[in-house]
Amino acid sequence: MDDMKKMPESYWKEKLTPEQYKVLRLKGTEAPFTGEFLNTDEKGMYKCGACGANLFSSNTKFHSGSGWPSFEDVGSEGNVDLEYDTSHGMKRIAVNCKNCGSHLGHLFDDGPTTTGKRYCINSCALNFEKGKV
Ligand code: FE
Repeated sequence: MDDMKKMPESYWKEKLTPEQYKVLRLKGTEAPFTGEFLNTDEKGMYKCGACGANLFSSNTKFHSGSGWPSFEDVGSEGNVDLEYDTSHGMKRIAVNCKNCGSHLGHLFDDGPTTTGKRYCINSCALNFEKGKV
């Protein structure tokens, strides 16, 4: 699976929509309150929009009011990488897919639940698979 990190940008450019490419590969951010999964409450698994790896379970999704889908934890251990991000004059922690290296969103320490975490993830960086979790 390590191979997904070696895919050339041309592969992703062809596979992804322009908005997905901008967020996932160029570390962009979708406009708040616009994403497909902002208000969804269905049971299922949120997967990487680029490579399809399982990332976040609907069990950990909550409504943060931030304008982006928010999760209090990862779906399974070790499926995301964290990286310091000092872009845009801010000190943030970027969340990347461990399998393919694509950018997903950011992690904040102001989560309202026992984890104290808020994974703030772009809708367009995710695909959703309905089902049991
Ligand atoms: Fe991925």
